[in-house]
Amino acid sequence: MSAPVPGSDTAAVQKAVAELIRALGLDAASEPELGETPARVADLYREIFGGFDPAQSPDVATFPHDGQGDIVLVRDIPFHSLCVHHFVPFFGRALIAYLPGDELLGISAMARLLDTYARRPQLQERIGQQIADHIERVAKPRGVAVILEARHLCMEMRGIRRVRHGRDPDRARRTRRSSLGADAAVRAGAGALGSQPP
Ligand SMILES: [Zn+2]
Repeated sequence: MSAPVPGSDTAAVQKAVAELIRALGLDAASEPELGETPARVADLYREIFGGFDPAQSPDVATFPHDGQGDIVLVRDIPFHSLCVHHFVPFFGRALIAYLPGDELLGISAMARLLDTYARRPQLQERIGQQIADHIERVAKPRGVAVILEARHLCMEMRGIRRVRHGRDPDRARRTRRSSLGADAAVRAGAGALGSQPP
């Protein structure tokens, strides 16, 4: 029997959240709003952990291509994820670009890949790596670049954004994974994502 998909055992999650509420010293009896919280959190987790579900894995179609030509680039794709270190959201926008080889990806594939890899507890850097690896695996491009820019609530809610972001506290955190020989996509990405916060 295969292991259950993470997040899918809602009964166990409900039980654990109820235990967490008690461990925090909160009391559902004196605060009725907490009564349904374990069930709500379990439902929410099942949904936002949906990227683990193989049944929801994107079926990324490819089309034959002549191996020539320009960068394919999709930018400003929104995403929401959950920081694996703190279980608090981080969210932002992505730019995904590749230089096609013998295969082209369907244009919606990029957004679906982003959604799949974001819908689980994650690291911003790892989302970019996983998308780039996936594109390399299915489309064998001549190069690929993924740029993610995100706000991390685990930092912002604790007021430590200034510490981590140094001289530029208002800029969201950016990560990049790139194997493009042509840096045009990366430069385009910097322009596309650098002008405003997500
Ligand atoms: Zn965090």
